[in-house]
Amino acid sequence: MTNPLYDRLFAPLAARERALLHLADGGTVTGRAFLAMVHRAAHALVACGVGPGDRVAVQVAKTPGALAVYGAAVAVGAIFLPLNTAYTAAEVDYFVGNATPKLLLADPKGEAALAPVAARHGARLLTLDAQGAGSFADLAAGQPDSFAVAPRSPDDLAAFLYTSGTTGRSKGAMLTHGNLLSNAETLAQVWRFTEADVQLHALPIFHTHGLFVGTNIALLTGGEMIFLPGFDLDTMLRLMPRATTMMGVPTFYTRLLDDPRFTRDLAAHMRLFISGSAPLLAETHVAFEARTGHRILERYGMTETNMNTSNPYDGDRRAGTVGPALPGVEVVVTDPATGTPLPPGEIGMVEVRGPNVFKGYWQMPEKTAEELRANGFFITGDLGRFDADGYLTIVGRQKDLIITGGFNVYPKEIELILDDQPGVLESAVVGVPHPDFGEAVVAVIVPKPGQTPDLAAIEAALGAHLARFKQPKALVLAEALPRNTMGKVQKTELRAAHAARFAR
Ligand code: AMP
Repeated sequence: MTNPLYDRLFAPLAARERALLHLADGGTVTGRAFLAMVHRAAHALVACGVGPGDRVAVQVAKTPGALAVYGAAVAVGAIFLPLNTAYTAAEVDYFVGNATPKLLLADPKGEAALAPVAARHGARLLTLDAQGAGSFADLAAGQPDSFAVAPRSPDDLAAFLYTSGTTGRSKGAMLTHGNLLSNAETLAQVWRFTEADVQLHALPIFHTHGLFVGTNIALLTGGEMIFLPGFDLDTMLRLMPRATTMMGVPTFYTRLLDDPRFTRDLAAHMRLFISGSAPLLAETHVAFEARTGHRILERYGMTETNMNTSNPYDGDRRAGTVGPALPGVEVVVTDPATGTPLPPGEIGMVEVRGPNVFKGYWQMPEKTAEELRANGFFITGDLGRFDADGYLTIVGRQKDLIITGGFNVYPKEIELILDDQPGVLESAVVGVPHPDFGEAVVAVIVPKPGQTPDLAAIEAALGAHLARFKQPKALVLAEALPRNTMGKVQKTELRAAHAARFAR
């Protein structure tokens, strides 16, 4: 009997007396104790009627118990469907209606609002809170510590992760055992993870980064995790000396750098800092190296494909790039209109093929057909450019591309110049409707704390660097950029905020 993910990630825990999880309060959970939690949770799932192929939707705080539900879903042969804890009941209603899970696991605080949602779509509703208590925990507590694991094949589905859905409805990306395992194996190898590693884990486990990259690698390689409910600067600084690796979104790095307590000494014990999920500013890369001596390793991936490219472990980690394709993953840059591969240096659509690429969107065959070619290449929606050495640079999402007066403008080209100007902390460039040009370029600029950038000087600097059609028609100061929990700038919000700026 085999179950690819269970056999590789969870079964080895049976023999492990060492810690798997270190908690913020100093507590630990050994590998063996965690596996018993997984098994009890698996029995609880079965008691709720969950069987192979059924969905288990989970919107709960990040705790060992929540992670055990992931293992339990794998053991039962079910499909794990984690949901962002920030989603409202109305949003959860869409996911539950779309995925029709047998069980919806929620925080007790959300129980009243979610009861009608679960009832409407025929799901059982149970609870698990941030301390690990709730009706699901009660059900699991009385269950046996061992479980007869359901057989699965590499092609069977293991998880649905819903895309963030900035354009249209969120789509359920169907990920198989083979997708997840192949990527974890590749990453563990190229990033040299071993059982000696202790990963400082502050990412959420409802997203591919924290769940499949962070957790799967640690489980696969027998490492330990300092498993934190979220990013809290004091806790990060306190626990970093006990870690060897950290995975973070770019905001983790800027927040660490903003604090003078984050020193070279504090990071001396670390082996590797990895960044992804949003672009890391070259400036952050440089500042981080100056402070700590570490060059952050930036990689690129997404919900539908897991990870695709990575800067090298040995060799040149180039700021502003996401590195070459991972072993076994094909990455090409194509002409968005024709799909023909483009030579290095030219900007086009990033397409990806490999064992990491998902099976399609749940119950959306037409969306799947639009984005997943018959030859297996997934059209990512990201625009990028290879350099002559095979390093990929992401220049933005295609939907963020601005077409003004018939010309293409890549926001990143302008953002990079803006970010270099005196007094500018960061920037975001968007296109908004314009009666003459179709779209007009608008730049939103966030000043460095306590500074007031000189907008006239910035305009002059842009004029010196950029063709006229690329120059913003408006420069706007803002206190901060709207970001989601993964640190991604929400350009849709910015476009909406400035939509009427040029209306006649
Ligand atoms: P998600 O599906 O939420 O993981 O978002 C995936 C998207 O995040 C990708 O399609 C990219 O647009 C963006 N992304 C991920 N990693 C990077 C990176 N290192 N640099 C730039 N964009 C990134």
